[in-house]
Amino acid sequence: MSGLALTNVVKEFGSFTAVNNVELNVPQGTFVCMLGPSGCGKTTLLRMIAGLDLPTSGSIRLDGEDITHVPTHKRNLGMVFQSLALFPHLTVGENIAYPLRIRGVPKEDQKKRVAELLSMVHLSGYADRPVAKLSGGQRQRVAIARALSISPRLFLLDEPMSALDAKLREAMQVELRQLQQKLGITTVVVTHDQREAMTMADTVVVMKGGEIRQAASPMEIYRKPADSFVADFIGQTNLLEAELDSTGRALVLGQPVEGIAFKPGMNKATLSVRPEDVHLTAPGAGALSGTVTFVRDLGGMIETFVDVAGRQIIAVSTPRARPDVSVGQPVGVVLSPDVCVVLAR
Ligand code: ATP
Repeated sequence: MSGLALTNVVKEFGSFTAVNNVELNVPQGTFVCMLGPSGCGKTTLLRMIAGLDLPTSGSIRLDGEDITHVPTHKRNLGMVFQSLALFPHLTVGENIAYPLRIRGVPKEDQKKRVAELLSMVHLSGYADRPVAKLSGGQRQRVAIARALSISPRLFLLDEPMSALDAKLREAMQVELRQLQQKLGITTVVVTHDQREAMTMADTVVVMKGGEIRQAASPMEIYRKPADSFVADFIGQTNLLEAELDSTGRALVLGQPVEGIAFKPGMNKATLSVRPEDVHLTAPGAGALSGTVTFVRDLGGMIETFVDVAGRQIIAVSTPRARPDVSVGQPVGVVLSPDVCVVLAR
């Protein structure tokens, strides 16, 4: 297979298992984001892909070649880390040319390549500027251009946007994704920012406790989360207890809801329902009975908090579809079975 393939990758630090039995295929030209809470093992996994750490067991292949024991500098990688690690005393052009210079690329070719890369990252004309005089976003682009100067087989980035302010970060995410698509370079990014992952990735890999909980497209992760951890970690969701009563009828928070399909053998579950899929109506049959406890008007969207049997359900709507409710009012909460994801509990 061309691309990156991890097979049964394990990393132990003494008796602690930081990465446990990871299996992952990243087809050539795709963009993968590894996402998870602090300490879930995503950086350790990236470091093994980079050759900075050796797996305790398992193998890493790149374009079919086993690179598990190949040293970093022979893997032909482009890397960008959180710190960027630019040389502050060198100019933009010298920074970008550095990997070419140490590989003995002739001066004229270096110059041509630097101009190409600068245009690619929208910094044409900046070659002679000292990096110390650049803004955060411009430094980021220089670090990306430097990593790509050698036309790597694999592009690895660890929390590359975390030093940028929110607005710039969002703009850079779009830029990075567009650049990656233009170059068709296989890319792996570590992030703890789920919006960042959803913006850039073909495949989002959600990790917890050293294991992959789900690896799928952003939409699949959002619409069909594999478990309640993934459902809760990606976006906002309502996690509601459900069970089958003695007659086989589905109860959600103790109240009957038609059409919820439990898997065979399952008699209790957790339902994940996205707030935009929760509809509020007048109380009555076919809806859970609840009481409005809070309305948060955020301008572009409205969040309505409803208490159902002591649990809070959040419904989100646009201002145009604003539910006509006020705090203290009894409401019906409609959960359409087609938008409820039934998860093991
Ligand atoms: P963060 O988002 O905080 O960077 P992460 O998901 O990248 O977290 P890792 O840095 O991969 O997590 O660390 C995973 C676990 O392995 C953590 O519990 C960490 O303390 C542990 N760990 C990482 N490196 C070492 C090491 N060299 N020695 C011992 N334990 C380590």
